[in-house]
Amino acid sequence: MTDVFTKEKRKWIMSRVGGVNTKPEKIVRSFLHAMGHRFRLHRADLPGKPDIILPKHRKIIFVHGCFWHGHAKCHRSKRPSTNEIFWNSKIDRTIRRDKRVLSDLKKIGWKVLIIWECETKKTELMVRKLENFIDEKKVR
Ligand SMILES: [Zn+2]
Repeated sequence: MTDVFTKEKRKWIMSRVGGVNTKPEKIVRSFLHAMGHRFRLHRADLPGKPDIILPKHRKIIFVHGCFWHGHAKCHRSKRPSTNEIFWNSKIDRTIRRDKRVLSDLKKIGWKVLIIWECETKKTELMVRKLENFIDEKKVR
């Protein structure tokens, strides 16, 4: 996969993104913005009230917290050892809901990308993931 940005442009994009304490969703939003994409937020008329909607591409991005959404094999999603039953049922419920939302969105023709909280700390990888997702040709 070739880089769609020049070195200068990429540098500029990186410089526009806030510090390490910025909320994951905000990080993704500022990258998309810097990449020149138009998007909408939290459209309540869509299943799961998606975080970021790219109407032109008919694509959706969810930014998931690793803990709450149970990111598999991620150290951030380690479940607490106290109140185990409570946490397990809560997180398992969220995972099930996420799966349902994903399939509902696909059924009505949306493409969906999940960006995990831990991925927003690895900017190069995340930008690549976003680029690949958005540039991907519409398959129908
Ligand atoms: Zn994670």
